[in-house]
Amino acid sequence: MKITGLKAFHCNGSRYPWVFIKIETDAGITGIGQASSGPGSAMVAAAASRLGGWLTGEDPSRIEYLWNKLFTGFSSLGNRGFASALISAVDIALWDIRGKQLGLPVYELLGGRFRDRLILYANGWFQDCETPDDFARNAKAEVKKGHTAMKLDPFMRFIDRSEPRQHAGGMTPAAEAKGAAIVEAIRDAVGPDVEILIDAHGMYDVPTAVRLARRLEPCNIGWFEEPVPPENYDALRLVREQIATPICVGERLISRYDFRPILDHQLANYLMPDIIRTGGISEMKKIATMAEAYYVPVSPHDATGPITMIAGAQVMMTVPNFYRLEIAYSELPLYNEALTPPLDVHDGYFHVSNRPGLGHELSEEYLTKQAVPF
Ligand SMILES: [Mg+2]
Repeated sequence: MKITGLKAFHCNGSRYPWVFIKIETDAGITGIGQASSGPGSAMVAAAASRLGGWLTGEDPSRIEYLWNKLFTGFSSLGNRGFASALISAVDIALWDIRGKQLGLPVYELLGGRFRDRLILYANGWFQDCETPDDFARNAKAEVKKGHTAMKLDPFMRFIDRSEPRQHAGGMTPAAEAKGAAIVEAIRDAVGPDVEILIDAHGMYDVPTAVRLARRLEPCNIGWFEEPVPPENYDALRLVREQIATPICVGERLISRYDFRPILDHQLANYLMPDIIRTGGISEMKKIATMAEAYYVPVSPHDATGPITMIAGAQVMMTVPNFYRLEIAYSELPLYNEALTPPLDVHDGYFHVSNRPGLGHELSEEYLTKQAVPF
């Protein structure tokens, strides 16, 4: 089998447009992938549309070879971030092709089912919330739906954004109190048995991160996610040394090479790689295996699009140290518009498709109707 071409798609997503690719082969099998995007999504789509030149004529079953061909090819330009987003899309599409060629779901090619279904944690359940009472009401509803863990960022809405400083946080004492009141109301509503995960979105300097984490300690937080930006591991260590709450990082870390120091220096209790940023299915599996050797659980970041969710889930079906899969309920309707068949989510679990490859296709109707020029 040979790769004959690659198409890129730029379509309306949730916060930003999503970038998808389709890799075509001379056997008539196609594979789908997604690249991480953001405000620069049109540039990512334009770059993705040129990847065919690197891949045409290659054997799509040589996934490791092609991953390394791209990763080393981008080395001088910088193979993290923009390049690793493109590599992620290609890698996911190659695994989809391989599964379809062999008639097996991707998880069967990665070691087989470790489990039958994936336990979820809820995100995006608070879109209509303003007051602590609103959050408490919605949190209770998530528990009723079967969830035993939920995530939120209680502080982001109160940040002073008058300056584009990444790591100042802009938190005032009044804003901190408002955020803490939301978390206290949730803890009161759901009781002690539900995990509350707090996302700091990598937005704080060290003293702010430490102060916020300590403030929430009486609420028994499950993890404090990305307390500081991802570029400085020493800053993360400083936070870790000063707080009792477990730390989770990884959605902005690229490839096994960024995760290695986190594990070597015990800087986090949980890892959360994003499969469309960090290097695709191949890299997610490797990072999970590295973490396994350190007894660190893995919980993929799944808030960046439909193929993020299904590709990460395929890997987690095989990973002994899987913790929980994130689901952004605010985005699920659009995931189900983009994918066919829709996702099987119920009772707090994601039930992964047993169809060949990723088990889903991009809906042609969605690709046409939601297309955005790039
Ligand atoms: Mg996050």
